[in-house]
Amino acid sequence: MVTDTIVAIATPPGRGAIGVVRVSGPLVVALTQAVCGRPLVPRVATHLSFLDENGQPIDEGLAIFFPGPHSYTGEDVLELQGHGGVGVLSLLLNRCLGFVPSSGRMRMAEPGEFTQRAFLHDKLDLAQAESVADLIDAGTERAARSALASLQGTFSQLISDLQNRLIDVRMRVEACLDFPEEDIPFIEREGVAQRLSDILAVLTQVHDSASRGAVLREGLRVVLVGAPNVGKSSLLNALAEQDVALVTAIAGTTRDRIVQEISVDGVPMHVIDTAGLRDTSDEVERLGIARTWQEVQRSQVVVLLRDATGTVPVDHALEQKVVQQASSCRAVVRVWNKSDLALHVSQGKDADAVHISAKTGLGLDQLRQRLLDLAGWTGDASSGVFAARARHLQALQRSRVACQEATQHLTAKELELLAECLRQAHAALSEITGEFSSDDLLGEIFGRFCIGK
Ligand code: GDP
Repeated sequence: MVTDTIVAIATPPGRGAIGVVRVSGPLVVALTQAVCGRPLVPRVATHLSFLDENGQPIDEGLAIFFPGPHSYTGEDVLELQGHGGVGVLSLLLNRCLGFVPSSGRMRMAEPGEFTQRAFLHDKLDLAQAESVADLIDAGTERAARSALASLQGTFSQLISDLQNRLIDVRMRVEACLDFPEEDIPFIEREGVAQRLSDILAVLTQVHDSASRGAVLREGLRVVLVGAPNVGKSSLLNALAEQDVALVTAIAGTTRDRIVQEISVDGVPMHVIDTAGLRDTSDEVERLGIARTWQEVQRSQVVVLLRDATGTVPVDHALEQKVVQQASSCRAVVRVWNKSDLALHVSQGKDADAVHISAKTGLGLDQLRQRLLDLAGWTGDASSGVFAARARHLQALQRSRVACQEATQHLTAKELELLAECLRQAHAALSEITGEFSSDDLLGEIFGRFCIGK
């Protein structure tokens, strides 16, 4: 198969001290001769002039040649590190694109195409390739550390260990399918039940760690709800440490959602201020309230605010409805606001409530801590963390469900069904590392990368 040679500017657009043009593919050796005027010693940075088609210098800088397969993509790669200006880099890019080879084709790289080639040449598995983009996109230090752990194979290794355990059990089960007269005692001797239960325990652990990693990537969605004037906008501003939402004593001021990204101890959160919940005849406000209910259903944490001074009475029926609508979220956190004016004493079912003042900042640390707990990020949670995505969590969950079903078939001595469930559990894990992946999935993953990576 003839592969195109791809080229891209790998550094961000704009002014910079250094700009990098990256090339990968079969034309790299010929291009190096043309642009650098000579062959390069592999993996050694050489200072030289980059030449145009007439042999005139375009820029000067460092050139590095990485012969395949020991390169990022697994192919021959050339990196030209010149001055980081828009004009000079575009001259260099166009010089490469305009290179006319005797055979083969030179073209602009698609987003993520260098990493996609690395994946196709088995330099990285799919989970590692995804973590390259996650590392680049990481907005907090924690997110960056966890993405690097995934890139270095922490997550992939756990998946590979689980796959090996599953292969082992599958072999034992398939072996006794071949000797049906002996099957059940055989299965018992082989300790299949114990092995399956061990796999389920590890799957649960990996899923928990992956959920924490996914929170770092996707952020925890936290919605603030309550009656008008309990202080939702004030709380959003206090958590964001800036004025994002309009605060007034007039009920019904916030009519649409406001989403603000915040970082709590390096864990990203999307905090959503919503229209206060009350009966209203105002059409715009009603639409806002409908959106509040949508947010309650899709958020992971609902912060239910109340006014500790009693000025805004607690509407128990409405709160009941919030709890019902929030059935699939991680938790509903009850918060008494305006504690600077009146300290409400929580009792009974309310003992868990957090007391804050959005105005003075009282109790906000406690609320932040509660949110961190709910994100799974407390204590030594930072050790052993790796970046993960929703797609990985779904695959782990499918694998877990298949193993649970396998356990039931084992109890019912249905060996064919047991074998099938184990196959499904194994296939779900293989999707994570990309052993079985559709072109659509690859397009979806790599299409979101930046160009040049
Ligand atoms: P929302 O309608 O729930 O978004 O409430 P706002 O954030 O707009 O606040 C309503 C009123 O309560 C405003 O006048 C705020 O200044 C006041 N308020 C909000 N939080 C506090 C607080 O913690 N203490 C005091 N004393 N007033 C507050």
